[in-house]
Amino acid sequence: MNAEIIAVGSEMLTAGRLDTNSLFITDHLNGLGIEVTAKHVVGDDRARLVTTIRRSLEDADIVVLSGGLGPTEDDLTRDAVAQALGCGMSANAGILEAIETRFRTMKRQMPEINKRQAMVLDGAEILSNDRGTAPGQWRVTGNKVVVMLPGPPSELKSMFTRECLGRLAKIAPPTAIHTEVLRVTGISESQLDQTVAPIYVGRANLETTVLAHDGDLQVRFRAQCKTQADAAALSQEVAELAAVALGDNVYSRDGASLETVVGRHLAAAGQTLVVAESATGGGLAARITTVPGSSAYFAGGFVTYAKRMKTELLGVPESLLAEFGAVSEPTAKAMAEGARRVTGADWAISITGNAGPSTDGDQARVGEFYLGVAGPDKTEVTHRVWPVGDRDRARAFAVQAALDLLNRRLR
Ligand code: AMP
Ligand code: MG
Repeated sequence: MNAEIIAVGSEMLTAGRLDTNSLFITDHLNGLGIEVTAKHVVGDDRARLVTTIRRSLEDADIVVLSGGLGPTEDDLTRDAVAQALGCGMSANAGILEAIETRFRTMKRQMPEINKRQAMVLDGAEILSNDRGTAPGQWRVTGNKVVVMLPGPPSELKSMFTRECLGRLAKIAPPTAIHTEVLRVTGISESQLDQTVAPIYVGRANLETTVLAHDGDLQVRFRAQCKTQADAAALSQEVAELAAVALGDNVYSRDGASLETVVGRHLAAAGQTLVVAESATGGGLAARITTVPGSSAYFAGGFVTYAKRMKTELLGVPESLLAEFGAVSEPTAKAMAEGARRVTGADWAISITGNAGPSTDGDQARVGEFYLGVAGPDKTEVTHRVWPVGDRDRARAFAVQAALDLLNRRLR
Protein backbone atom coordinates (compact mmCIF):
# COMPACT_ATOMS: atom_id res chain seq x y z
CA MET A 1 0.00 0.00 0.00
CA ASN A 2 1.39 3.39 -0.98
CA ALA A 3 0.55 7.05 -0.53
CA GLU A 4 1.31 10.36 -2.17
CA ILE A 5 1.27 13.67 -0.34
CA ILE A 6 0.26 16.97 -1.93
CA ALA A 7 1.26 20.12 -0.06
CA VAL A 8 -0.94 22.95 -1.28
CA GLY A 9 0.24 26.55 -1.08
CA SER A 10 2.12 29.00 -3.29
CA GLU A 11 4.20 30.16 -0.33
CA MET A 12 6.02 26.79 -0.36
CA LEU A 13 7.15 27.42 -3.92
CA THR A 14 9.14 30.40 -2.71
CA ALA A 15 12.33 30.36 -0.70
CA GLY A 16 10.39 31.60 2.32
CA ARG A 17 8.48 28.49 3.46
CA LEU A 18 9.12 24.80 3.68
CA ASP A 19 6.63 21.96 3.48
CA THR A 20 7.13 20.38 6.90
CA ASN A 21 3.68 18.79 7.14
CA SER A 22 4.66 16.02 4.76
CA LEU A 23 7.52 14.96 7.04
CA PHE A 24 5.09 14.43 9.90
CA ILE A 25 2.61 12.61 7.68
CA THR A 26 5.29 10.44 6.09
CA ASP A 27 6.64 9.39 9.45
CA HIS A 28 3.22 8.17 10.57
CA LEU A 29 2.36 6.50 7.30
CA ASN A 30 5.67 4.62 7.34
CA GLY A 31 4.95 3.52 10.89
CA LEU A 32 1.74 1.95 9.60
CA GLY A 33 3.64 0.15 6.85
CA ILE A 34 2.39 2.55 4.17
CA GLU A 35 5.11 3.65 1.80
CA VAL A 36 5.16 7.27 0.61
CA THR A 37 6.09 7.06 -3.05
CA ALA A 38 5.83 10.72 -4.06
CA LYS A 39 5.41 14.18 -2.57
CA HIS A 40 4.22 17.21 -4.47
CA VAL A 41 4.19 20.91 -3.69
CA VAL A 42 1.54 22.70 -5.74
CA GLY A 43 0.70 26.40 -5.74
CA ASP A 44 -2.76 27.79 -5.19
CA ASP A 45 -3.85 27.06 -8.73
CA ARG A 46 -7.01 25.10 -9.27
CA ALA A 47 -6.18 23.55 -12.65
CA ARG A 48 -2.74 22.37 -11.58
CA LEU A 49 -4.16 21.05 -8.35
CA VAL A 50 -6.83 19.04 -10.19
CA THR A 51 -4.19 17.55 -12.50
CA THR A 52 -1.93 16.62 -9.60
CA ILE A 53 -4.77 15.02 -7.62
CA ARG A 54 -5.85 12.94 -10.61
CA ARG A 55 -2.31 11.80 -11.33
CA SER A 56 -1.70 10.88 -7.70
CA LEU A 57 -4.92 8.88 -7.62
CA GLU A 58 -3.68 6.84 -10.54
CA ASP A 59 -0.44 5.96 -8.77
CA ALA A 60 -1.33 5.79 -5.10
CA ASP A 61 -3.84 4.07 -2.82
CA ILE A 62 -3.95 7.05 -0.49
CA VAL A 63 -3.64 10.72 -1.42
CA VAL A 64 -3.13 13.11 1.47
CA LEU A 65 -3.50 16.84 0.86
CA SER A 66 -2.48 19.52 3.30
CA GLY A 67 -3.40 23.18 3.13
CA GLY A 68 -5.85 25.15 1.09
CA LEU A 69 -8.82 24.56 3.39
CA GLY A 70 -9.02 28.16 4.60
CA PRO A 71 -11.85 30.56 3.86
CA THR A 72 -10.21 32.73 1.22
CA GLU A 73 -10.28 32.72 -2.58
CA ASP A 74 -6.89 31.05 -2.78
CA ASP A 75 -8.02 28.10 -0.67
CA LEU A 76 -8.91 25.71 -3.46
CA THR A 77 -8.34 22.21 -2.13
CA ARG A 78 -12.03 21.34 -1.56
CA ASP A 79 -13.03 22.60 -5.00
CA ALA A 80 -10.11 20.89 -6.71
CA VAL A 81 -10.76 17.50 -5.09
CA ALA A 82 -14.48 17.72 -5.96
CA GLN A 83 -13.57 18.52 -9.56
CA ALA A 84 -10.93 15.78 -9.77
CA LEU A 85 -13.40 13.19 -8.46
CA GLY A 86 -16.35 14.66 -10.30
CA CYS A 87 -18.47 14.83 -7.19
CA GLY A 88 -20.71 17.50 -5.71
CA MET A 89 -20.42 19.50 -2.48
CA SER A 90 -22.89 20.96 -0.06
CA ALA A 91 -22.79 23.13 3.02
CA ASN A 92 -22.87 21.11 6.21
CA ALA A 93 -25.18 22.67 8.80
CA GLY A 94 -23.28 21.24 11.75
CA ILE A 95 -19.95 22.64 10.61
CA LEU A 96 -21.50 26.03 9.85
CA GLU A 97 -22.95 26.12 13.34
CA ALA A 98 -19.59 25.18 14.85
CA ILE A 99 -17.75 27.90 12.93
CA GLU A 100 -20.36 30.50 13.92
CA THR A 101 -20.06 29.45 17.56
CA ARG A 102 -16.29 29.73 17.37
CA PHE A 103 -16.57 33.33 16.12
CA ARG A 104 -19.22 34.16 18.73
CA THR A 105 -16.93 32.88 21.50
CA MET A 106 -14.23 35.21 20.19
CA LYS A 107 -16.91 37.96 20.18
CA ARG A 108 -16.59 38.44 16.45
CA GLN A 109 -18.99 38.33 13.53
CA MET A 110 -18.42 35.38 11.17
CA PRO A 111 -17.38 36.74 7.75
CA GLU A 112 -19.48 35.44 4.83
CA ILE A 113 -16.44 33.80 3.23
CA ASN A 114 -16.02 31.43 6.16
CA LYS A 115 -19.10 29.60 4.91
CA ARG A 116 -16.80 28.02 2.31
CA GLN A 117 -15.21 26.01 5.09
CA ALA A 118 -18.52 24.28 5.74
CA MET A 119 -18.60 22.83 2.22
CA VAL A 120 -18.32 19.04 2.37
CA LEU A 121 -17.82 16.70 -0.57
CA ASP A 122 -20.70 14.31 -1.17
CA GLY A 123 -19.88 11.06 0.56
CA ALA A 124 -17.01 12.46 2.66
CA GLU A 125 -16.48 11.90 6.34
CA ILE A 126 -15.71 15.02 8.37
CA LEU A 127 -12.45 15.20 10.31
CA SER A 128 -12.88 17.50 13.28
CA ASN A 129 -10.49 20.40 13.85
CA ASP A 130 -9.94 21.18 17.53
CA ARG A 131 -7.35 23.90 16.80
CA GLY A 132 -9.03 25.95 14.10
CA THR A 133 -12.09 26.44 11.93
CA ALA A 134 -11.43 24.34 8.83
CA PRO A 135 -12.53 20.72 9.22
CA GLY A 136 -10.72 18.07 7.24
CA GLN A 137 -12.35 15.48 5.03
CA TRP A 138 -11.89 11.77 4.35
CA ARG A 139 -13.31 10.74 1.00
CA VAL A 140 -13.28 7.17 -0.29
CA THR A 141 -13.27 6.89 -4.07
CA GLY A 142 -13.33 3.37 -5.48
CA ASN A 143 -10.65 1.46 -3.56
CA LYS A 144 -8.71 4.66 -2.84
CA VAL A 145 -8.86 7.39 -0.25
CA VAL A 146 -8.37 11.15 -0.50
CA VAL A 147 -7.61 12.87 2.79
CA MET A 148 -7.82 16.66 3.13
CA LEU A 149 -6.02 18.24 6.07
CA PRO A 150 -5.57 21.88 7.10
CA GLY A 151 -2.22 23.62 6.49
CA PRO A 152 -1.32 25.04 9.89
CA PRO A 153 0.95 22.36 11.41
CA SER A 154 -0.66 22.34 14.86
CA GLU A 155 -4.13 21.83 13.33
CA LEU A 156 -2.84 19.16 10.98
CA LYS A 157 -1.00 17.22 13.65
CA SER A 158 -3.92 17.15 16.04
CA MET A 159 -6.39 16.18 13.31
CA PHE A 160 -4.13 13.54 11.84
CA THR A 161 -3.47 11.94 15.21
CA ARG A 162 -7.08 11.97 16.40
CA GLU A 163 -8.97 11.35 13.18
CA CYS A 164 -6.66 9.68 10.66
CA LEU A 165 -4.40 7.21 12.47
CA GLY A 166 -7.28 4.92 13.44
CA ARG A 167 -8.88 5.08 9.99
CA LEU A 168 -5.54 4.40 8.30
CA ALA A 169 -4.72 1.51 10.62
CA LYS A 170 -7.95 -0.16 9.48
CA ILE A 171 -7.00 -0.04 5.80
CA ALA A 172 -3.23 -0.45 6.14
CA PRO A 173 -1.94 -3.91 5.38
CA PRO A 174 -1.00 -5.63 8.62
CA THR A 175 2.79 -5.47 8.68
CA ALA A 176 4.20 -8.91 9.17
CA ILE A 177 6.78 -9.65 11.84
CA HIS A 178 8.85 -12.78 12.23
CA THR A 179 11.43 -13.39 14.92
CA GLU A 180 14.15 -16.03 14.94
CA VAL A 181 15.94 -16.78 18.20
CA LEU A 182 19.29 -18.46 18.67
CA ARG A 183 20.07 -19.55 22.23
CA VAL A 184 23.75 -19.66 22.84
CA THR A 185 26.17 -20.54 25.63
CA GLY A 186 29.86 -21.17 26.12
CA ILE A 187 30.99 -17.75 24.86
CA SER A 188 30.75 -14.21 26.22
CA GLU A 189 28.20 -11.62 25.15
CA SER A 190 30.90 -9.58 23.40
CA GLN A 191 32.25 -12.65 21.57
CA LEU A 192 28.72 -13.39 20.43
CA ASP A 193 28.11 -9.88 19.16
CA GLN A 194 31.51 -9.70 17.46
CA THR A 195 30.69 -12.92 15.63
CA VAL A 196 27.22 -12.02 14.42
CA ALA A 197 27.49 -8.22 13.92
CA PRO A 198 29.00 -8.51 10.41
CA ILE A 199 25.96 -10.60 9.47
CA TYR A 200 23.20 -8.31 10.73
CA VAL A 201 24.64 -4.79 10.59
CA GLY A 202 23.11 -2.68 7.83
CA ARG A 203 20.27 -5.10 7.05
CA ALA A 204 17.08 -3.23 6.22
CA ASN A 205 13.86 -4.25 8.02
CA LEU A 206 15.80 -6.22 10.61
CA GLU A 207 16.20 -5.52 14.31
CA THR A 208 18.78 -7.57 16.19
CA THR A 209 19.03 -7.82 19.97
CA VAL A 210 21.49 -9.71 22.13
CA LEU A 211 20.41 -10.69 25.63
CA ALA A 212 22.68 -12.18 28.27
CA HIS A 213 21.88 -13.63 31.67
CA ASP A 214 24.43 -15.51 33.79
CA GLY A 215 26.19 -17.05 30.81
CA ASP A 216 22.97 -17.85 28.98
CA LEU A 217 22.78 -15.81 25.76
CA GLN A 218 20.12 -15.12 23.19
CA VAL A 219 20.34 -13.35 19.88
CA ARG A 220 17.00 -12.36 18.40
CA PHE A 221 16.49 -11.41 14.76
CA ARG A 222 13.19 -9.57 14.28
CA ALA A 223 12.20 -8.88 10.70
CA GLN A 224 9.35 -6.54 9.80
CA CYS A 225 8.24 -6.87 6.20
CA LYS A 226 5.20 -6.52 4.00
CA THR A 227 4.37 -10.20 4.02
CA GLN A 228 4.81 -12.99 6.52
CA ALA A 229 6.81 -14.92 3.95
CA ASP A 230 9.26 -12.03 3.45
CA ALA A 231 9.68 -11.52 7.19
CA ALA A 232 10.26 -15.22 7.77
CA ALA A 233 12.70 -15.47 4.87
CA LEU A 234 14.76 -12.50 6.03
CA SER A 235 15.02 -13.49 9.69
CA GLN A 236 15.68 -17.14 8.82
CA GLU A 237 18.40 -16.26 6.35
CA VAL A 238 20.22 -14.10 8.90
CA ALA A 239 19.69 -16.62 11.71
CA GLU A 240 21.12 -19.39 9.53
CA LEU A 241 24.27 -17.39 8.77
CA ALA A 242 24.64 -16.53 12.45
CA ALA A 243 24.14 -20.14 13.50
CA VAL A 244 26.89 -21.27 11.15
CA ALA A 245 29.24 -18.58 12.50
CA LEU A 246 28.46 -19.48 16.12
CA GLY A 247 28.85 -23.21 15.53
CA ASP A 248 28.26 -25.55 18.45
CA ASN A 249 27.79 -22.66 20.85
CA VAL A 250 24.18 -22.54 19.63
CA TYR A 251 22.19 -24.95 21.76
CA SER A 252 18.68 -24.27 20.54
CA ARG A 253 16.86 -22.54 17.70
CA ASP A 254 13.28 -23.03 18.85
CA GLY A 255 13.58 -21.00 22.05
CA ALA A 256 14.04 -24.09 24.25
CA SER A 257 16.10 -23.58 27.41
CA LEU A 258 19.36 -25.41 27.99
CA GLU A 259 17.81 -27.70 30.61
CA THR A 260 15.01 -28.53 28.19
CA VAL A 261 17.47 -29.38 25.41
CA VAL A 262 19.50 -31.60 27.76
CA GLY A 263 16.29 -33.32 28.83
CA ARG A 264 15.27 -33.94 25.23
CA HIS A 265 18.62 -35.61 24.47
CA LEU A 266 18.41 -37.82 27.56
CA ALA A 267 14.80 -38.80 26.91
CA ALA A 268 15.54 -39.59 23.27
CA ALA A 269 18.45 -41.82 24.28
CA GLY A 270 16.48 -43.39 27.12
CA GLN A 271 19.25 -42.42 29.54
CA THR A 272 19.24 -41.10 33.08
CA LEU A 273 21.09 -38.33 34.89
CA VAL A 274 22.15 -37.77 38.46
CA VAL A 275 23.92 -34.75 39.97
CA ALA A 276 26.40 -34.30 42.82
CA GLU A 277 26.63 -30.72 43.97
CA SER A 278 28.72 -28.93 46.51
CA ALA A 279 29.03 -25.18 45.92
CA THR A 280 25.72 -24.85 44.06
CA GLY A 281 23.78 -26.50 46.90
CA GLY A 282 21.11 -28.10 44.73
CA GLY A 283 20.86 -25.28 42.18
CA LEU A 284 21.62 -27.62 39.31
CA ALA A 285 18.98 -30.13 40.39
CA ALA A 286 16.50 -27.28 40.85
CA ARG A 287 17.13 -26.05 37.33
CA ILE A 288 16.87 -29.50 35.75
CA THR A 289 13.55 -30.11 37.50
CA THR A 290 11.98 -26.87 36.20
CA VAL A 291 11.27 -28.91 33.06
CA PRO A 292 7.90 -30.71 33.19
CA GLY A 293 8.38 -34.43 32.77
CA SER A 294 12.02 -34.33 33.89
CA SER A 295 11.35 -37.39 36.10
CA ALA A 296 11.61 -39.43 32.89
CA TYR A 297 15.39 -38.92 32.86
CA PHE A 298 16.43 -37.17 36.07
CA ALA A 299 17.10 -39.66 38.87
CA GLY A 300 17.97 -37.12 41.58
CA GLY A 301 20.93 -35.51 43.22
CA PHE A 302 23.30 -35.29 46.16
CA VAL A 303 24.02 -32.07 47.97
CA THR A 304 27.37 -33.00 49.51
CA TYR A 305 28.50 -29.75 51.05
CA ALA A 306 30.76 -31.06 53.81
CA LYS A 307 33.74 -33.25 52.98
CA ARG A 308 32.29 -36.02 55.17
CA MET A 309 29.18 -36.15 52.95
CA LYS A 310 31.30 -36.44 49.83
CA THR A 311 32.98 -39.45 51.37
CA GLU A 312 29.88 -41.07 52.91
CA LEU A 313 27.42 -40.60 50.05
CA LEU A 314 29.68 -40.55 47.00
CA GLY A 315 32.66 -42.58 48.19
CA VAL A 316 35.19 -39.81 47.60
CA PRO A 317 38.29 -41.07 49.47
CA GLU A 318 39.24 -39.05 52.56
CA SER A 319 42.85 -39.23 51.48
CA LEU A 320 41.99 -37.67 48.13
CA LEU A 321 40.15 -34.81 49.81
CA ALA A 322 43.06 -34.31 52.21
CA GLU A 323 45.64 -34.29 49.44
CA PHE A 324 43.89 -32.17 46.77
CA GLY A 325 41.17 -30.31 48.68
CA ALA A 326 37.42 -30.25 48.11
CA VAL A 327 37.71 -27.84 45.19
CA SER A 328 39.96 -29.80 42.88
CA GLU A 329 39.96 -31.83 39.73
CA PRO A 330 40.34 -35.22 41.47
CA THR A 331 37.43 -34.40 43.82
CA ALA A 332 35.15 -33.34 40.95
CA LYS A 333 36.04 -36.55 39.11
CA ALA A 334 35.48 -38.74 42.16
CA MET A 335 32.16 -37.01 42.93
CA ALA A 336 30.80 -37.56 39.42
CA GLU A 337 31.99 -41.14 39.19
CA GLY A 338 30.77 -41.90 42.71
CA ALA A 339 27.30 -40.50 41.99
CA ARG A 340 27.10 -42.54 38.80
CA ARG A 341 28.30 -45.72 40.51
CA VAL A 342 26.02 -45.40 43.55
CA THR A 343 22.85 -44.72 41.54
CA GLY A 344 23.48 -46.63 38.33
CA ALA A 345 22.56 -43.56 36.27
CA ASP A 346 23.99 -43.23 32.76
CA TRP A 347 25.28 -39.72 33.35
CA ALA A 348 26.46 -37.80 36.40
CA ILE A 349 27.39 -34.14 36.74
CA SER A 350 29.46 -32.88 39.66
CA ILE A 351 30.04 -29.32 40.76
CA THR A 352 32.59 -28.28 43.36
CA GLY A 353 33.87 -24.75 43.73
CA ASN A 354 34.29 -21.66 45.81
CA ALA A 355 31.52 -19.14 45.17
CA GLY A 356 33.08 -16.64 47.58
CA PRO A 357 33.16 -14.04 48.92
CA SER A 358 36.14 -15.34 50.96
CA THR A 359 38.42 -18.33 50.52
CA ASP A 360 37.61 -19.71 54.01
CA GLY A 361 41.04 -21.24 54.36
CA ASP A 362 40.30 -23.28 51.25
CA GLN A 363 42.97 -23.67 48.61
CA ALA A 364 40.61 -22.53 45.87
CA ARG A 365 40.35 -18.99 44.64
CA VAL A 366 37.04 -17.13 44.78
CA GLY A 367 35.03 -18.01 41.69
CA GLU A 368 37.06 -21.16 40.99
CA PHE A 369 35.08 -24.25 40.03
CA TYR A 370 35.61 -27.80 38.84
CA LEU A 371 32.78 -29.34 36.84
CA GLY A 372 32.73 -33.07 36.19
CA VAL A 373 30.69 -35.03 33.68
CA ALA A 374 30.83 -38.81 33.99
CA GLY A 375 29.21 -40.83 31.23
CA PRO A 376 29.16 -44.31 29.73
CA ASP A 377 32.41 -43.66 27.86
CA LYS A 378 34.56 -41.45 30.10
CA THR A 379 34.73 -38.76 32.78
CA GLU A 380 35.77 -35.22 31.92
CA VAL A 381 36.53 -32.44 34.38
CA THR A 382 36.57 -28.78 33.38
CA HIS A 383 38.26 -26.06 35.39
CA ARG A 384 36.57 -22.64 35.29
CA VAL A 385 37.08 -19.36 37.14
CA TRP A 386 34.35 -16.71 37.17
CA PRO A 387 35.74 -13.47 38.55
CA VAL A 388 32.23 -12.12 38.99
CA GLY A 389 32.65 -11.09 42.62
CA ASP A 390 29.11 -12.14 43.36
CA ARG A 391 28.25 -15.41 45.06
CA ASP A 392 24.89 -15.93 43.35
CA ARG A 393 26.24 -15.13 39.91
CA ALA A 394 29.23 -17.46 40.30
CA ARG A 395 26.85 -20.26 41.26
CA ALA A 396 24.52 -19.50 38.36
CA PHE A 397 27.45 -19.50 35.94
CA ALA A 398 28.57 -22.87 37.32
CA VAL A 399 25.12 -24.42 36.83
CA GLN A 400 24.95 -23.05 33.30
CA ALA A 401 28.42 -24.31 32.38
CA ALA A 402 27.74 -27.76 33.86
CA LEU A 403 24.58 -28.14 31.77
CA ASP A 404 26.49 -26.90 28.72
CA LEU A 405 29.22 -29.51 29.24
CA LEU A 406 26.70 -32.32 29.48
CA ASN A 407 24.81 -31.02 26.44
CA ARG A 408 27.99 -31.03 24.36
CA ARG A 409 28.58 -34.66 25.37
CA LEU A 410 25.01 -35.71 24.58
CA ARG A 411 24.52 -34.28 21.10
P1 AMP B 1 -3.57 27.06 4.39
O1 AMP B 1 -4.40 25.99 5.04
O2 AMP B 1 -3.13 26.68 3.02
O3 AMP B 1 -4.22 28.38 4.46
O4 AMP B 1 -2.21 27.16 5.23
C1 AMP B 1 -2.17 27.93 6.40
C2 AMP B 1 -0.75 28.06 6.87
O5 AMP B 1 -0.28 26.77 7.24
C3 AMP B 1 0.25 28.50 5.81
O6 AMP B 1 0.37 29.88 5.71
C4 AMP B 1 1.52 27.92 6.32
O7 AMP B 1 2.07 28.76 7.29
C5 AMP B 1 1.09 26.65 6.96
N1 AMP B 1 1.28 25.51 6.07
C6 AMP B 1 0.51 25.17 5.01
N2 AMP B 1 0.96 24.06 4.42
C7 AMP B 1 2.07 23.69 5.10
C8 AMP B 1 3.00 22.62 4.98
N3 AMP B 1 2.86 21.67 4.04
N4 AMP B 1 4.01 22.55 5.85
C9 AMP B 1 4.14 23.49 6.80
N5 AMP B 1 3.31 24.50 6.98
C10 AMP B 1 2.27 24.64 6.13
MG1 MG C 1 -2.63 28.18 1.66
